[in-house]
Order: sequence, then structure tokens, then C-alpha cells
Amino acid sequence: MGSVISCLAAFVFVSSLFPSSSVSSVSSVVALLAQAPDEATRLLQEYVRLDTSNPPGDTRKTADFLAGVLEREGIPVTRYESEPGKAIVYGRLTATVSPPAGNAIVLLHHMDVVPADRAQWKTDPFTPTIRDNELWGRGAFDMKGQGVAQLMAFLMLKRQRVPLARDVILLAEPDEEVGGAAGARWMIANHYAELDPEYVIDEGGFGSREMFAPGKLVFGISVAEKKIVWLKIRAEGIAGHGSQPIEQNANDHLVNALQRLLAEPPGARNVPAKDSIVEIMRTRVGALAQNKFTNAIQRSTISLTWFTSGVGDPPKINVIPSIAEAGLDCRVLPGTTRDQWIADVRRRLGDPALKIEVVNESDDPIVTPQDTALYRNLESAILRRHPEAIVTPILIPYGTDSNAFRPKGVKSYGVFPAILPADAVAQMHGDAERMPLDAVAEAAQVLFDALRATVEQK
Ligand SMILES: [Zn+2]
Repeated sequence: MGSVISCLAAFVFVSSLFPSSSVSSVSSVVALLAQAPDEATRLLQEYVRLDTSNPPGDTRKTADFLAGVLEREGIPVTRYESEPGKAIVYGRLTATVSPPAGNAIVLLHHMDVVPADRAQWKTDPFTPTIRDNELWGRGAFDMKGQGVAQLMAFLMLKRQRVPLARDVILLAEPDEEVGGAAGARWMIANHYAELDPEYVIDEGGFGSREMFAPGKLVFGISVAEKKIVWLKIRAEGIAGHGSQPIEQNANDHLVNALQRLLAEPPGARNVPAKDSIVEIMRTRVGALAQNKFTNAIQRSTISLTWFTSGVGDPPKINVIPSIAEAGLDCRVLPGTTRDQWIADVRRRLGDPALKIEVVNESDDPIVTPQDTALYRNLESAILRRHPEAIVTPILIPYGTDSNAFRPKGVKSYGVFPAILPADAVAQMHGDAERMPLDAVAEAAQVLFDALRATVEQK
């Protein structure tokens, strides 16, 4: 009896979610809804169990796993290998109208994860463990849980035979955690014709009651990223005996310059412009919360991440070295170029003798517009579930693969459209990484809703 009532409730719920649903019967909807959370949990357990720590970032087993899921549904799968062990999976749902109304939508996620130090974990990082309806394990959040939500939405499009006015592609890649050269960037360089999307949906934003503005439910959809500029600063001096200090001590020069650099308050170039995404966020949500995430998106930032100095291993304490180096992880707001940024760093260091080397930089940030069909459909799918929520475009402080698509003119949105507790967000790359299972099911449903609305538009 209980099941009849819950089935009816489920159908009313589904009807309200999909008012023009093309689902053939009540029973199939109910069956689908009943199985979805269990299926998502089972898929995530299987996915997290496959260790894709990067390095070495071997994704062949996860590629087998995802290809198996897609092939069982009758979805054509193509596999690529950018380098030995770096497998890529590509599944495609083809438009049911000809010609299609627009280019494809790509659901993009990475299969690799950052390494886990087993000694620091309370659970085994590659034995998925469910506690309090959260799945613990390396990659549960970043980004296998998000990948499973995308996969479920993709499968629902196929199972419900949603008419497609354009293609939808599921793309699972290796190598994101080390820069994406053998993943997204390799696909763009070697197989762009197979993708050529109008839109990409990737990681980036999410829903939170505390991260963006205190006490307000805010869903952030990332439309741009800060630019990565990794710098090595090198001081050269003269070696000598530690008993007799000299002016040419490379360590002294480096430490004094870094102190000047870090002590100077942010300049005009380090704060967002008036028409920037951060200003749009402030207009939408009011005062931003104060935390390291919101701090990082409001200014260009520098993290001093390493020093290398000393002679010998272990370094001799009575030898003044002739060389000292430091690493700076700089994340630069959109609108500031690499050369402008380096000139600013050089001025703040205040020592023309120091050498500055660019170790790595990302593409110049491009801001994806928000006045698009997919953005509006994501927003309305979220608001249908959470009428009190504020949906806003956001800037994210870290780099993702979707940024590699923006220079091609692709509209990339980074969003996991479910509410996440702040402590779960904080454990991304941490030793208590976990994903609320309800969030995976919710995100799958919202993504499906937004995709369906977008692919049905001719
Ligand atoms: Zn990630």
C-alpha cells in the first residue's frame, strides 16, 4: 500500500518537473525515479573504487567502466588514447531532427583524481564507504560524483527517448589534475571536429547556503576562471662562509624582495572592474560571505608555495648559497594580461636583479555570456526546485578543463546543480573527501531538466 501512495506522489512530483514530458507511461516514470538514486549510488561506488590517482593518472579501467555503461544502453562509444594509459571516452546521442538546431552540448568531466595519502584517511580512499548518506572516497566530489550526475542525466535523455534538436556528448577525460594537456587540450588539438560544441557543462560552481553569502541559498554557475600564472623567482649572489655575512647573499635578496611583494596592498589591477562578474554577484546576492573562496575571486592573488636554497643535501648551515629560488602561484583576475601582471610583480619585488620565469600559464580568461538558452534553462531548473534560491554567474579561483574550450568560442558553464554543505566543499582534494548521495541524484535531475529544455528548443 505504501508503495502505491509513494508512486502517486512520485508521479505528481515528476509531472511538475516535466510538464511536457514525452515519457510513454506512468509506470516507466515511476520505475525510473525509483531506481535513479540507487543506480547513481551504485555507479559512484564502482567509479570511486577504480584508482585513477594522477600521477600516474591511468584511466583505462574507468574508461572500460563508463564505456560498458553506455554500451549497455545502446549508446555508441568512441575511445581515444592520448598517451599510453590516458584513455578518453566519448559517447554521443545524435539529434533526432535534420538539420540539427545547433551545435552539440558536451557534458565534460575528468576521470583522474589527485593522489591520496592512506595514512591520513579515516576510511580507505579507494574503498567507497557510505556514512550518513555521504559517500567517502578519493574523487567522490572531484569529480566522479559530478561525472555520475552527468552520466545519469545523459542516460535519462536516452531512456526517455527525448527528441533531440541537437547532439549531446558525454566526454570523460584523463589528466585534468595535472593541467589537461593529455585530456581536454589533446581532444581540442586532435579531434575538435568530433566535438565542435556550442556549449560545455563542466565542474566549477554549485549550490550553497553559506559559501557565497551567509544565510542565503545561492547557486553559482561559473562563467570564467582566473588566469593561472606560475612564476619562479631566482636570486643570484656569491657563495661564502656562513661565519662572515656578505651583501651578496642570495637568500637575503630573495627574502627581502618577497617581503616587499607580499606586504604591498593590492593595487588597482588586482581588484575587479566595475562590470566584472564579481560585481554582478554582489548585485545579485548582496554582501559576499568572508572566506578563502570569496577572498580569492575578489582580487588577483599570490601564494608563496616553495623555496629552494642551500648547498648540499641536507643543506649545509655554514655555507651561504649563490642561488635561491621561490615559487609563486599567482591567480590573476580577467582583464589583466600576463605581461601586465609580471610588470606589477617585478615592481613590487623592488629588485631588478631578480630573474622571473613563467613556469606555466593558462589561456587568457574569457567570460562566457549568461544570456544563452542553456544558462536560462539551468537557472529555471534550479529555481523550480528551490524557488527561494539566487542563481548567479560566478568567477572561480581555480582552473578547469572547460576554460580550454572558451577560446574556441564555446559557451562553458561550470556547475554541479545541487546544494553542498561547506565542509564537503572544503574537503575537495582533502583526506575526508565525500559526496552527499542526495546531491548526486538532485544534480542529475536538474541537469536532465535543463538539457531537455535546451535540446527541445528548435
Ligand atoms: Zn576537478
